[in-house]
Amino acid sequence: MSITEWFKAKNKYIPVEKSGTRLNIPDGIWSKCAACNEIIFQKEVVRNFKVCPKCNHHFKLTAEERVNLLLDDGSFVEFNGGMISNDPLDFEISKSYRVSLNQAQEISGLKEAIVTGEGKIDDRLIIFGVMDFRFIGGSMGSVVGEKVTRAIEKALEENLPLVLVCSSGGARMQEGMFSLMQMAKTSAAIARFKQKKNPYISILTNPTTGGVSASFATLADLIIAEPEALIGFAGPRVIEQTIKQKLPKGFQSAELMLKHGMIDLIVHRKDLKNTLSKLLNFLY
Ligand SMILES: [Zn+2]
Repeated sequence: MSITEWFKAKNKYIPVEKSGTRLNIPDGIWSKCAACNEIIFQKEVVRNFKVCPKCNHHFKLTAEERVNLLLDDGSFVEFNGGMISNDPLDFEISKSYRVSLNQAQEISGLKEAIVTGEGKIDDRLIIFGVMDFRFIGGSMGSVVGEKVTRAIEKALEENLPLVLVCSSGGARMQEGMFSLMQMAKTSAAIARFKQKKNPYISILTNPTTGGVSASFATLADLIIAEPEALIGFAGPRVIEQTIKQKLPKGFQSAELMLKHGMIDLIVHRKDLKNTLSKLLNFLY
């Protein structure tokens, strides 16, 4: 592409912001980074593991992208892929839970908010799970809790390391108590797993909050986070409304969690597989 063509293309795809109107940036070529507001070339973002080349903001990855990023090519075999959620409370507010589930399945192409299975990192077999935020905010209902528990039990049975990538808004309110009890169930399974001394590594991505952060996500032997990931229990908006105070900048960020000893490492996405490989080599 000549420089003249580039400018023509640039003018075509970079929209002019009018006050009060949302920027409408076409998918495919350019997009606007939500963190630094810079216009970025999408191909460059993809090449950069979906990290903003200007400000280092880590965009969310889908479960499939995360499998491709961390596991050896073609090594992933999914477990319990057909498991789908029930609607035990016949729940409905603005829309029914069944409709939310159907929409989430359509948007994500997944049956639930977590994908679990086995795969290899540099030829080492591990049990692996990855949450997908597109599926009702990565919320943990009974299927997510059950799949996490089965993954833990499989790692225990097969004597393998466990790696879980978390991304969640918390427990799934549409399942009420059924969802809350998954915190106890997954935590108990982790306690059994730890008796065998195999490593469990969790990776907290943006955001990891609520019932997931208060259970299996933070019970790992090693807790890694991606840069600037929001990690906490209640979200900052809820806390601000409750205490009626403005929270300091960087509150609940991975960096603050590291400073206070709540997590062990912050790793840039491009180094994640290599770091996991080294850690597993050391621990297992
Ligand atoms: Zn940026």
